[in-house]
Amino acid sequence: AGKLYLVPTPIGNLDDITIRAKRILQEADYIAAEDTRTSGILLEKIGVHNRMLSFHKYNSKERAPELVSLMQKGAVIAEISDAGMPVISDPGYILVQECIKNNIPVVPLPGPSAFATALIASGFDAQPFTYYGFLPRKKGEQQPFFEQMNKAHATSIFYEAPHRLVKTLANMATIFDSDRKIVAARELTKIHEEFIRGTISEVTAYFKEQAPRGEFVILVSPNTQQSEQLSWAELIDLVNELVANG
Ligand code: SAM
Repeated sequence: AGKLYLVPTPIGNLDDITIRAKRILQEADYIAAEDTRTSGILLEKIGVHNRMLSFHKYNSKERAPELVSLMQKGAVIAEISDAGMPVISDPGYILVQECIKNNIPVVPLPGPSAFATALIASGFDAQPFTYYGFLPRKKGEQQPFFEQMNKAHATSIFYEAPHRLVKTLANMATIFDSDRKIVAARELTKIHEEFIRGTISEVTAYFKEQAPRGEFVILVSPNTQQSEQLSWAELIDLVNELVANG
């Protein structure tokens, strides 16, 4: 019977393709790829030879029903994006929804994704975290996100393009407390992998010396300040404690 496999591909280091991912890519009837040229190069390098169909954000609405009808006729389709996990700041969501609507099994494979890779080495608490994907580009539209991150007791994660990074850091500096810690995780799994850790102004200073290049994940530490307002229960506990201690 037909089904959809969601197959993660490396985010830089080709050795990060899993044995299972490679087997599914080889055995599927079709590989639905975001960019058939980019994926063609990857598949060639990992030794997979199979039929590719293009499926990207500009054709996903029309393409999804076509892929669903192939799967209804029994086709097994493996979906990949340019890098990392499909659906994570990449196309795939619409196809997953269509499969669920049409009772076609969706089988996700575990594998690399830039945000999780960055998170585990950030040194920030991984529970809870919020993943924002790409933020809007305009300053005014970014601000509500930064206000939310500033208050959050969760680690915040987002993706940013290298040529926008310095501007985004300047925008962050207007909202976050000056001692708030951030991490810029660069070129994960690649030769120039690097973690730039510090306050917003320290990380900004680093990029003034050395312009940002390559791919970036930005992480913001959780807000560790206690909220100023006590709940009634906390107030009663506090009073009882004071009474007990005379
Ligand atoms: N689907 C991918 C995933 O699972 O992470 C994300 C695709 S999104 C279109 C591409 C963005 O992910 C890049 O602009 C960058 O912010 C981030 N990214 C991808 N690979 C990366 C890497 N090796 N190091 C740092 N960031 C990376």
